[in-house]
This record gives sequence, structure tokens and C-alpha cells, in this order.
Amino acid sequence: MEAFEFHNPTRLIFGKGQLDALKKEVPKFGSKVLLVYGGGSIKRSGLYDRVIHILNEIGAEVTELAGVEPNPRLSTVHKGVELCRTHGTELILAVGGGSVIDCAKAIAVGAKYEGDMWDFAERKAAAQAGLPLGTVLTMAATGSEMNAGSVITNDQTQEKLGWGSPYAFPAFSILDPEHTFSLPRDQTVYGVVDMMSHVLEHYFHVPTNSPVQDGFCETVLRTVIDTAPKLVEDLHNYEHRATIMYCGTMALNGILNMGTRGDWATHNIEHAVSAVYDIPHGGGLAILFPNWMKHNLKVDVSRFKRLAVNVFDIKTEGKSDEQVALEGIEALRSFWNSIGAPSTLKDYDIDDSQLEVMAEKAVKFGPFGNFAKLDKQDVLEIYKASL
Ligand code: NAP
Ligand code: FE
Repeated sequence: MEAFEFHNPTRLIFGKGQLDALKKEVPKFGSKVLLVYGGGSIKRSGLYDRVIHILNEIGAEVTELAGVEPNPRLSTVHKGVELCRTHGTELILAVGGGSVIDCAKAIAVGAKYEGDMWDFAERKAAAQAGLPLGTVLTMAATGSEMNAGSVITNDQTQEKLGWGSPYAFPAFSILDPEHTFSLPRDQTVYGVVDMMSHVLEHYFHVPTNSPVQDGFCETVLRTVIDTAPKLVEDLHNYEHRATIMYCGTMALNGILNMGTRGDWATHNIEHAVSAVYDIPHGGGLAILFPNWMKHNLKVDVSRFKRLAVNVFDIKTEGKSDEQVALEGIEALRSFWNSIGAPSTLKDYDIDDSQLEVMAEKAVKFGPFGNFAKLDKQDVLEIYKASL
């Protein structure tokens, strides 16, 4: 393990009926609230009305930013920053999935910065302050509800970049599994793939010795593999929704990776795809991750074998380590297929015409990945294998 410091300031409020916690949380920060949400799912589910009712009850002065896109755009962040400045916003309240929360994070730091928050994504500057942010999560996937990361798409340059700042941690996040009941099957699957990918990014890490973290990762993966197939057949099952929601948060709140550095190349490779084709993040990961694995099998076969045996119960007798490892990768692919995730870029009508463009975007900051360093050629090979 490497030296590390762990501090996660997000107050996690989990369970049925916890929306009422807004009554005690919001007034801690003030009364001027910017309510940020997406394309209308919270209106259809009735959550919007319940949130507004509570905000009215506590006398909050509410401004709204509606229409945050899946794969949130920088232009929408700019609108939000403008609203914060005009209305003297004291708290941003994001109600939605990872896109809404990521957009709200960018608004929170953007409102406290004289330049364009895109500077943070470009690594040209680091945020020095942020408005307080609270979230009400409606989709289990990104872990954004309890981490300091965010991913924004620059609609002018067609770049999708992740960035992070301690000022982007939500001050509180309300997780009621019932708020995810309305999430359709396909989005539920994308969320499952995303959270599993976060755990896998941690699992392929440096340095190698971190037995507790590895065990945590395996437990989360096994739990998702056990629960997701039941959930997709029973979308209103509270216990399954709760388990998956908890897994999504744990997968990326810093707990599974203390003292280790995960790989994170596949996320980078996927962001370049969704920057150009605007596909769902989880769908892109399902296509790319098994191909990243095959590409890097030789870096440390024992790690892939461990995944195969401990997570997918692959039998080892009479087989080489490499064979076991490959069977593990196939088991991951079949699992994702079995719940309805895509497996090739063709599934999104993506052909080979933009591979160069995407690979160029992926290497914007040079070679990347901690478990295995990838350059443009590696990225191209992974894309080609994914066609
Ligand atoms: P999302 O883009 O926030 O939402 C996907 C879709 O699901 C939207 O159309 C949304 O509709 C809908 N939806 C959400 N909750 C719903 C509900 N309860 N009922 C019905 N529909 C619902 O999905 P996401 O996977 O959570 O976020 C993806 C983004 O996060 C990507 O940009 C990805 O790159 C990024 N990401 C961030 C992190 C991080 O740590 N910050 C990590 C991984 C990925 P509405 O718009 O109508 O609400
Ligand atoms: Fe992700």
C-alpha cells in the first residue's frame, strides 16, 4: 500500500422516506437554492413535486436549471453559473443521476471562479472554492453522490473530460432506493455496468499488495452479479434496488481504493467514445472493458486469474493461468450480455471512421493508465477489437 490520507465529507442519508432530511439539511446552508435536474424523469415520477413541496415548506427561494443532458454539456454548466451569480445562490440541490450531479458540481466550482470552469478539466487551474452542493440521487451508477469527481462534455470541442476537486464533494446526499424504482431496465443495466467498472478500475491497481481492498472489491462485484439479474426482472424490488444503490456508492467513494491507484484507462477510452457519439457511459464501458482486459492480460496474468476464480468461480484444474484468466474475461462479457448490455461498437452503429479521432482525444494528456500504460496505438487496438 502507498501512503494515503482519507477524508470524505459527504453526509450520506440512506433509506426509505429520507427525502424529509432536506428540511434539516437545506437551511444549514441558506435559503437561496438552485435546483438542478435533468430532462424530466423527476417530473414524471412525482419526485419534483415532493422536493418543491419541502423547499416551499421551509421557505427556500428556489431557482431552477432544468434539462441537464445525459453526458452533461459545458454550455449547461455556464447557464447554471450565470443563475448562481444572478440569484446569489447559497446551495445547489441536484436531483437526478450522475449527469445532473456532475453538472451541479461544475456549477458549484464555476460560480466561485472568475474564469471558465473548463480550465479545471483542462488541468490549467485548480478550484479554490465551491458553493455547497446537496444531492437527491435517482440512479445508482456513478458514485458521484459521494465523491469529488465529475465528467463534463465541451459541446464546442467535442471533448469529454473528467476532473475533480475537494470543493466538489456533496455536503449531503439523500439516497432513497424508491427514487430509483422508475429507472427503466436499460438505464438500470448501464448503472450496473458503470459501478462494476469502477470496482474493476480499482482492482487493476498498483502497487500490488492490498489484500483487504481486493477482498472488498470482490465482495462488491459478487454482490452486484448476484443481485442485478434479479433486479432487472423486478424493477420495483426495494431490497434489490437498495443493494445496488449501496454498491454504486461504495464503488467510487474512496473506500475500496485506500492506498492503491487504480487503472482508469478504460474510463478514459470510453469518454472519448461518448464525446464523439454521445452514447451512454455504461454501454460504452460494457463494450470496452473486456477488450482492455484481453489487451493487457500479459501485464499480470495472476491478477486476471484471481478475478476469474474469486469473482466468477472459474475452475482451475488442468488449465493454464492464462486460460483461467481468459475464461474470467469471457464470464464478465457473458454476465453483462445476460442482463442486456451491449458488446460491440456496432450495437451503437459505430464504425471505424472515427477511431483515430477518438484515440487522439483519449491521449490528450499523454499515455495513461496505472496498471498498464497505454499509448495511442494501444487505444486504437482496443477500439478495433471492440468494433
Ligand atoms: P444519467 O446520464 O444521469 O441519466 C441517464 C438517464 O436516466 C437520463 O435520461 C435520466 O433522465 C434517466 N434517469 C435518471 N434517474 C431516473 C429515474 N429514477 N427514473 C427514470 N429515469 C431516470 O446517468 P448516470 O449513469 O448516472 O450518469 C452518467 C454520467 O456520469 C456520464 O457523463 C458519465 O461519464 C459520468 N460519470 C461520472 C462519474 C463520477 O464519479 N462523477 C463516474 C462515472 C461516470 P432525466 O435526465 O430525465 O432525469
Ligand atoms: Fe463511470
